[in-house]
Amino acid sequence: MSSFALRRLAVLGSTGSIGRSTLDVVRSAEKRMQVVALSAHTNISLLTEQIQEFRPQIVVVTHDPQNVSQLEKTRQIAKESGTKILFGAESLTQIVIRDDVDIVVSAIVGSAGLKSTLDALTVGKTVALANKESLVVGGELVMDTAKKYGGKIIPIDSEHSAVWQCLRTRTNQVTENEQNTKNIQKIILTASGGPFRNFSSEQLKHVTVADALTHPTWQMGKKITVDSATLINKALEIIEARWLFGVLPSQIAVVIHPQSVIHSMVEFSDGSVMAQLSPPDMRLPIQWAIDYPQQFSCPSKKMNWTENFSLEFFPPNLEQFPALQIGLEVAEQGGTAGAVLNAANEVAVDAFLQEQLPFHKITTVCQTILNHHNYERRPTLEQLQAADHWAREETKTWLSR
Ligand code: MG
Repeated sequence: MSSFALRRLAVLGSTGSIGRSTLDVVRSAEKRMQVVALSAHTNISLLTEQIQEFRPQIVVVTHDPQNVSQLEKTRQIAKESGTKILFGAESLTQIVIRDDVDIVVSAIVGSAGLKSTLDALTVGKTVALANKESLVVGGELVMDTAKKYGGKIIPIDSEHSAVWQCLRTRTNQVTENEQNTKNIQKIILTASGGPFRNFSSEQLKHVTVADALTHPTWQMGKKITVDSATLINKALEIIEARWLFGVLPSQIAVVIHPQSVIHSMVEFSDGSVMAQLSPPDMRLPIQWAIDYPQQFSCPSKKMNWTENFSLEFFPPNLEQFPALQIGLEVAEQGGTAGAVLNAANEVAVDAFLQEQLPFHKITTVCQTILNHHNYERRPTLEQLQAADHWAREETKTWLSR
């Protein structure tokens, strides 16, 4: 490594799947990256190991710790490591606005990630965004905030990272927030199709929790694995792409690609299509987002060109998986619709995981709650939070009937 710009990181959600992969990237980056701050929700024992290893300046625990003896141990290790501990989600603001943080890796799960993303952008930080809910829930507000205060968003979601990389290969002079979109004909998001790609409607009625948690190509957290099986994850990614790249929903297409090697594509106005390929491994888009515009070798898996392999593409079956149509509609509506879809889905997935809702009803619940909601065109953060809260309560009421 000859020369590099040091990246000082706040990793929000450091004990989750993306957080752990991020720290793996940091390990291999040696002196190129430094962990200044971490946050975790409930996994305090893993957070404690991370404090010991990375010696951050500060950590935030966003959930009230239940285990008193574990907490004592954490305090002791933090003291030895020179790490300050704060409690409560409000404390996330303090770590994302720090002067010694260059990049905020936003890997919190769910709409809880929105506030800290906005806080970071408000002080002009670069956000390496894995928390797609920030854009699903508050797309327009988030992009406006980035623009107003000079903050940058670089996607970690593998599909959006692929699109971002394709755009940078073929368009000149694009800045992080003002994409050169005039030559984009279509953004083609790839989807593995999940484990039930070839299931009939009848088979979908008998899907168990264990079935849904077995993803064919990616190892991820429970919530996103279920979202991949319903294709709601792809619906959320359509909404994410619409705001991130400033394109119309009609310019976004989804194609089923079971191998998950092409992470997405862009078709340009002259008909040329650019694709980004790599084995499914989140460390690549994570490192790309943190190091951009620098590039270094990465610990992610590499393609093996000495073996036979095929890449397949299928149009999605919209009748089996109505989620995609919901995604396009919500991307079109904007406003509070994304917050409502996301919240209804979080509650519905939770009910499914607790065996209180059949798999095939998850998208039905989302559509029902969306149909009943009181739409607001240009919501503030408070209005988005209120829509989120309303949708959660409404979904619970609906489920208890
Ligand atoms: Mg993705």
